[in-house]
Amino acid sequence: MARKIFIAGNWKMNTNLEEARALSQSIVDVLGNTTDVDIAVCPPYTNLSAVNDIIKGSAIKLGAQDVYWEESGAFTGKVSCDMLKSAGVTYVIIGHSEQRTYFGETDETVNKKVKAALSSGLLPIICVGETLEERKSGKMDSVIDRQVKGAFEGLSSDDALKCTIAYEPIWAIGTGETATPQQANDVHKFIRNIISQIFSEEIAQAIRIQYGGSMKPDNAKALLEQSDVDGGLIGGAALKASSFAGIVNPA
Ligand code: PEP
Repeated sequence: MARKIFIAGNWKMNTNLEEARALSQSIVDVLGNTTDVDIAVCPPYTNLSAVNDIIKGSAIKLGAQDVYWEESGAFTGKVSCDMLKSAGVTYVIIGHSEQRTYFGETDETVNKKVKAALSSGLLPIICVGETLEERKSGKMDSVIDRQVKGAFEGLSSDDALKCTIAYEPIWAIGTGETATPQQANDVHKFIRNIISQIFSEEIAQAIRIQYGGSMKPDNAKALLEQSDVDGGLIGGAALKASSFAGIVNPA
């Protein structure tokens, strides 16, 4: 089954309002008519609405970097699915390694966020990935298995199909180190196999798995050519329209 390539830019905690407007405008200028690749930008919460005003009507979709699972109430600092939807958001990144490492995200909270996102019509981008130590000590498979099974716990096949998985080896994020195309493809196949065990081979073949970790214009083509790499979740290189386009174009 052909899976459409999906490239998403995770702007992390970068861009003030003015910078976000300028960046999204230049992305629309170069990529706004691209329809053969799915493209999303994920600015900080404070810039979602402004970026939405700029990308509206173009092929670029809006994503958020996190969400909270409760609907409303006394949860200071948190943002709900409904708030994201009303700001024009389509996708939401869940379980990014920075959330897991610095802000106490667990497989359980990932699962709650995924379920909340799906029930309100948001499309999750679920991040999984191992540390260098876990890879070197042979624990990579069990870590990825636990993260994938945790995230998809209790989901129906229909809901699973609405999710994208981003395989992001932690040792490759923001470090300039990239998994080789072969390393990435091997883990993507491993993840597909887990999805096939949980759901079915059909779902496993349909679900998109992005690679993330220092993807740049000069390594994107080789990664995206791999049979099981269906796109990229891009950090640093998403902060300039030219480098973001340099990844989308080979896709
Ligand atoms: C990310 O944080 O999702 C990421 C892949 O970052 P970078 O591209 O900067 O490694």
